[in-house]
Amino acid sequence: MATTLISNATILSIDPAVGELNRGDILIRDDKIAAVGVDLQATADEIIDASGMIAIPGFVDTHRHTWQSLLRSTGADWTLAQYFAGVRGVMGDLYTPDDMYVANLLGSLEALDAGITTLYDWSHNNNSPDHSDAAVKGLKDAGLRAVFGYGNSNQEWFPVSDKRSNFDDVRRVRDTHFASDDGLVTMSFAARGPQFATIDVTEEDFRKARELGLRITVHVGDGLWGMSKPLVQLNNRGLLADDTTYVHCTTLHDDDFRLMADTGGKASISPELEMHMGHGFPATLKLIGVGIRPSISIDIVTTIGGDMFGAMRALLVGTRAVVNHAALQEKKLVDPLPLMTRDVLEFATLRGAEASGLGHKTGSLTPGKQADIVLIDTNRLNMFPINHAPGAVVEAAHVGNVDSVFVAGKAKKRHGKLIGVDIMALRQKVVRARDGLFERAGVPTDGSWLPRPYEAPDDSEF
Ligand SMILES: [Zn+2]
Repeated sequence: MATTLISNATILSIDPAVGELNRGDILIRDDKIAAVGVDLQATADEIIDASGMIAIPGFVDTHRHTWQSLLRSTGADWTLAQYFAGVRGVMGDLYTPDDMYVANLLGSLEALDAGITTLYDWSHNNNSPDHSDAAVKGLKDAGLRAVFGYGNSNQEWFPVSDKRSNFDDVRRVRDTHFASDDGLVTMSFAARGPQFATIDVTEEDFRKARELGLRITVHVGDGLWGMSKPLVQLNNRGLLADDTTYVHCTTLHDDDFRLMADTGGKASISPELEMHMGHGFPATLKLIGVGIRPSISIDIVTTIGGDMFGAMRALLVGTRAVVNHAALQEKKLVDPLPLMTRDVLEFATLRGAEASGLGHKTGSLTPGKQADIVLIDTNRLNMFPINHAPGAVVEAAHVGNVDSVFVAGKAKKRHGKLIGVDIMALRQKVVRARDGLFERAGVPTDGSWLPRPYEAPDDSEF
């Protein structure tokens, strides 16, 4: 039995029963947290002096199209419709299985380095069984906790699709890679839903995914495409249940929000990306208004950075900006602010775990849960003095402050460096894959590629 004692850390447990400790210890036994408390007086195989560190649960990114890591920053100046034209219309079909592997490995390691210990890989470019296998292998080789969200092939995504999902392959992936739900990487189904597929195809997707014991996530309420009351449509077919996580939710109707809450749905919002690309203002307060505490996701690194610090700040400033602006229009003072840094840290950890179906395993520093722990170094110029630990993590910290990352009790990053990763060798593989991909696409890598916005063949869906 291996034991590690993390001692003398400031601990933000995100578990009300444990609370926040100004100076405390965390005892890890094998893959689990054995105890959290002040001066545990425990012996251990390894003792880590975490003086000057803030310990938090590992972040959970509940929705990232990790396969797009090769396209990093390509769409930095694109709208949602340009993204769809460029990524879906041009790039998706050109990916080889090896591109899927390299991209997923890169994106997963990027997440791990940034303190994201659980990644929901919203994998929607499964163009062949080899593509799916390669994507899964990328996640597994990276060594983080992940959920492989099986989400159709590129061609099945053009709206409104009447192409049925290949459930033979979904079942094959389930049987081959995820016979048990106890592994570090587990499986879920990433459905197209009523914005991208017909309601008949959507119904089949939801029912068959559930037959395989898979949780579901689905994009709803993004921009103009999301104003079609997608949850009302799902409800009309009896498809709403508490195994579903709804991504974005920015332009949903009040009826949609009520149905989501009444049926126990979870939410994943991508605040930074949503404000960039025209999805709408983050739905944070609307969700909270119906009793849903959202999780946070990165979505795509084609536009934004892949770390939770940027996403947390965007969520907070995006939410406060709307409230502050509305108050100014009415010549009122805002008091208190509607959302605090502690809320945001909870969204980025515990609520993420719950939205990924892993709330019983991770998301908080709770004895008995998996030891997914991040140490943030406060001996850095942007961090001290610490006067408000959650405020410092959410508003001041960045990836460079992530000193240590543990997944299931194993150290994956120590002293600011990922363990066992040859970054320059990975870079060579990534650049080779990227060069081939962009050459096949016939597009430049100098930032001059601006696709014409995608137009649905029939815009009546809006
Ligand atoms: Zn997405």
